[in-house]
Amino acid sequence: MTTGAVTSPTAGQDPGGAAGVLRRVFGYDSFLGAQQEVIEHVIGGGDALVLMPTGGGKSLCYQIPALIRPGTGVVISPLIALMQDQVDALRALGVRAGFLNSTQDAGQRRAMEADFLAGDLDLLYLAPERLRAESTLRLLDRAAISLFAIDEAHCVSQWGHDFRPDYLALSALHERWPSVPRIALTATATRATRAEIASRLNLESARHFVASFDRPNIRYRIEPKAEPLRQLLTLLRNEHQGDAGIVYCLSRASVEKTAAFLERNGIPALPYHAGLDGRTRTANQARFLREDGLVMVATIAFGMGIDKPDVRFVAHLDLPKSVEGYYQETGRAGRDGLPATAWLGYGLADVVLQRRLIDASEGDLAHRRRLSAHLDAMLALCETVECRRAQLLGYFGEAAEPCGNCDTCLSPAQTWDGTVAAQKLLSAVLRLHRERHQRFGAGQVIDILLGRKTPKVIEHDHASLSVFGIGEELTEKEWRGVARQLLARGLLAVQGDYGTLVLTEDSGSVLAGQRQVLLRHEPAPAARAARVSRTGRAAEAAAELPAAAAGVFERLRTWRAAAAKEQGVPAYVIFHDATLRQIAAESPASLAELARISGIGEAKLARYGEQIIELLAEPQAG
Ligand code: ADP
Ligand code: ZN
Repeated sequence: MTTGAVTSPTAGQDPGGAAGVLRRVFGYDSFLGAQQEVIEHVIGGGDALVLMPTGGGKSLCYQIPALIRPGTGVVISPLIALMQDQVDALRALGVRAGFLNSTQDAGQRRAMEADFLAGDLDLLYLAPERLRAESTLRLLDRAAISLFAIDEAHCVSQWGHDFRPDYLALSALHERWPSVPRIALTATATRATRAEIASRLNLESARHFVASFDRPNIRYRIEPKAEPLRQLLTLLRNEHQGDAGIVYCLSRASVEKTAAFLERNGIPALPYHAGLDGRTRTANQARFLREDGLVMVATIAFGMGIDKPDVRFVAHLDLPKSVEGYYQETGRAGRDGLPATAWLGYGLADVVLQRRLIDASEGDLAHRRRLSAHLDAMLALCETVECRRAQLLGYFGEAAEPCGNCDTCLSPAQTWDGTVAAQKLLSAVLRLHRERHQRFGAGQVIDILLGRKTPKVIEHDHASLSVFGIGEELTEKEWRGVARQLLARGLLAVQGDYGTLVLTEDSGSVLAGQRQVLLRHEPAPAARAARVSRTGRAAEAAAELPAAAAGVFERLRTWRAAAAKEQGVPAYVIFHDATLRQIAAESPASLAELARISGIGEAKLARYGEQIIELLAEPQAG
């Protein structure tokens, strides 16, 4: 874990205090970022709204106060499918944790309720819909509650991408339990969403903790899409061989197609979308979390709350609807702080499709305007010639310098004066409309500019237009790039079901020569990010260890895989890669030395300590 500033070493602290619990239970020596401040505030009974990026260490912000304050910490989380894993991970640390949700039968629920009433739980995870039942509220009345943690708090935002109506009821927690502190946490960063969360959850007077949203280990890359599946395969083969990752697609059909394509090309991949039955979805998710090196091909229905630390890449084959969504999804890469890639391929068809979806969407004009504004911000990110990270962080209200770890920083975009090209394209659209009372999509307009006598051009007699053949200096691909960029900037628009092109208010200034249009060159498909490794980042990270230690690291991973399999838990629940790497590098000879490694608390030391010391002492084969 390397994101966030490391503060306050905990050596020699009160073992019952926050720093003591951090060392004893979680095995960590120092807090990350604002963790300590948040924890102390909540221990003192204060309400908090915590905004930290994915991987920022939000969980400890409520887990440690729940361990220290008397009573059970109640965690509201929409992630029913992940509660078992979350609770398993806590139990592996010796924390008394449980959950109540619809996956349990009546007997399991009763047993859990009994534990809660007996005061035998440090943490109880609840799905938000549980709180609608009066019986749950009465249950909570009957035992001491140390705090309410509202995880994934952006689910309360109606305009956000993960809205859950049940979250709206959470504002009532405060009325029923006025003296219990509440801590709401999310990785969604915009000011508007933050304000909405605070007001809907009655947290306006709570203390707000806002961390930097930068994820410096993620390399952002956005490419125009030519042959998306080929581009994806090249990325995976050249840079992420054997790595775990997520590929997002817009539709169920493209999820299935992409997963099958990767499988055919020797890359183990699983599909995930709402059309699969619940059992298959759960099974695929479990495999992704438990096995190494699987690629999950999914719609955006997948991923919230997935805390797999070693997702090495997130690829988008279709344009996301908003920068918030894109940032959340890409944020699932590299939670462990090691290098990771966020790759997005997008093209003209994406822009047309998304605009069409907005036109067809339900809701009033204000709603459609908002969707449009979201899309415009996403397009601006795609077409920027400046640092992607600076643009992203700027969107979230943070200033940043060029980062040196995104595609535009690594190979600066070339621009060209596209004013004349833009005028040609816009005047083709204008003439079709003025002279023929016709509207067409980009394909036909480009055929006209290129002077192609296609059957459709002949049918409509478009060869007789004065703009026919005036654009032969550019290729079809370049024209598509021009159209895409004009659409992205609102100098051109699409309308109706067929994506027909129409002029906008701003088109006039281009046609009149009052406005210069600088365009981004379409990069050749061969232009790749500077660094290409054939091994994948996981192997690369291991390779940074000295040879002997690298061998030990591999043996530790094999041991961990067997232990994880035996217990039916994800490998990272046992130990993170970073912990194994440190063990391999330092080769502790005693339990006392082992206890000093980051990520080894008391429970894990007691459970695995002997095995690890033995494994380290074994003579190495070869
Ligand atoms: P978030 O919920 O904000 O995405 P998590 O709570 O899952 O982040 O933490 C991200 C990772 O960082 C986890 O693997 C966690 O074990 C690790 N982590 C959290 N706090 C610390 C710390 N103080 N020192 C070292 N690692 C930490
Ligand atoms: Zn950059």
